[in-house]
Amino acid sequence: MGLGHFAVLSDGTKIDSPRFLRRAEKRLKKVQRELSRKAKGSKNRGKARIRVARAHARVADARREFHHQLSTRLIRDNQAVAVEDLAVKGLARTRLAKSVHDAGWSAFVNMLEYEAARYGRTFVKIGRFEPTSQVCSRCGVKDGPKPLHVRVWTCGACGAVLDRDVNAAVNVAKAAGLAVSACRAQVRPGLVPAPRSEAGTHPKPKPVATGRQAGISVL
Ligand SMILES: [Zn+2]
Repeated sequence: MGLGHFAVLSDGTKIDSPRFLRRAEKRLKKVQRELSRKAKGSKNRGKARIRVARAHARVADARREFHHQLSTRLIRDNQAVAVEDLAVKGLARTRLAKSVHDAGWSAFVNMLEYEAARYGRTFVKIGRFEPTSQVCSRCGVKDGPKPLHVRVWTCGACGAVLDRDVNAAVNVAKAAGLAVSACRAQVRPGLVPAPRSEAGTHPKPKPVATGRQAGISVL
């Protein structure tokens, strides 16, 4: 199991790690494998160890570059940004810890906070006991926890079809006191039909966040 995306925004945008970062990570894995196959104390092992160290440095650089690009973009495009603080959720101590740490979430959040202060944007971290995946982001009904493999469900109360990550992102934004248009959070409109004049006017998720406010969640 891993986290499907690096970040998911309340407007439905899902952000993956860029190719240059994935490539650096792939290379790191490869040289680590090679190192483990070298005999202890051998000359080749020493060389392999240097290659691993270099690959590590390259991954760190690529990750920093990605975090910088993304935080700059999010801060530029939004007046307010809210994030879910995974550390206080205790996620760092669960079996998801590895993916959370690999994703460098806290480093990214720090960068986001720094950029927000620099450009005069509102930055909110919401944390403890906010049940972001238990509450329908459209009608507010709390229908309890869902196992992690459940990525999409239909709200029993209002019929909205909810994407786990986007629903959480909308709830993060709401908990932070930011206004979000709930209709954009749904995978598709639920059982409540849109008025005729509105049909087909729901904006499609865009490759970049263009709304003024973004809630971000990685769960
Ligand atoms: Zn609902």
